[in-house]
Amino acid sequence: MIIAIDGPAGAGKSTVAQELAKTLGYQLVDTGAMYRTVAFEALNAGVDLGDEEAVAKIARTLSFEFRFVEGENVVFCNGKALDQEIRTAEVSRAASIISAHPDVRTAMVEQQQRVGRGRSSVLEGRDIGTVVFPDAEVKAFVTASAETRARRRLEQMEECGEDGDYQEVLKEIVARDKRDTEREVAPLKQAEDAVVVDTTEMTIEEVLRVLRARVEAVRSPRGE
Ligand code: C5P
Repeated sequence: MIIAIDGPAGAGKSTVAQELAKTLGYQLVDTGAMYRTVAFEALNAGVDLGDEEAVAKIARTLSFEFRFVEGENVVFCNGKALDQEIRTAEVSRAASIISAHPDVRTAMVEQQQRVGRGRSSVLEGRDIGTVVFPDAEVKAFVTASAETRARRRLEQMEECGEDGDYQEVLKEIVARDKRDTEREVAPLKQAEDAVVVDTTEMTIEEVLRVLRARVEAVRSPRGE
């Protein structure tokens, strides 16, 4: 069983994907973390982010694994656990730049398909239902207004003790949406057969209820 969850940054995708995967006992493949790791490694290597071949070369050396450790999904890259170092504003920006390179995407999509085929999985990203697993049994497009997403992001930053400016965060989210939706390869867009969940006025529990109903409908189509 493949559950594909796509949508823009800050819509609540990660929280619902993690909850779903945990309760179902599925693997959770956080594809954003993969692009973030490529960006992180490229920044560390001092590579020009616009140099597709140089970034793709780095991408091909990275091997990913996802495991729940004490209830949290952890991404392992070449055997090493990654955490907050791939969640900085600098890495977010770099990830959205390098993810527009077709050769980088090819390397990541191959791994995502391989990892996802191994066992029942929830995959979250931008192009899961359209490109990575177009035949996924359940597809959801989780979204929210840019203002709501900026406010949520600001709350997260405050919880981590970081200072943030609402207008700055909103500007960054709008710029990232634009890059993600306007790029030529695998742009962020909803699959035609995805259930669209606008979380602007919804709690996480309400979102989960919608998705669980979808999963149940697939698992026991006659309500058995
Ligand atoms: O989901 P997250 O915000 O961690 O993703 C970071 C960046 O990686 C996104 O802004 C997007 O540019 C890119 N990404 C992508 N395709 C995916 C997942 C993430 O292009 N499937």
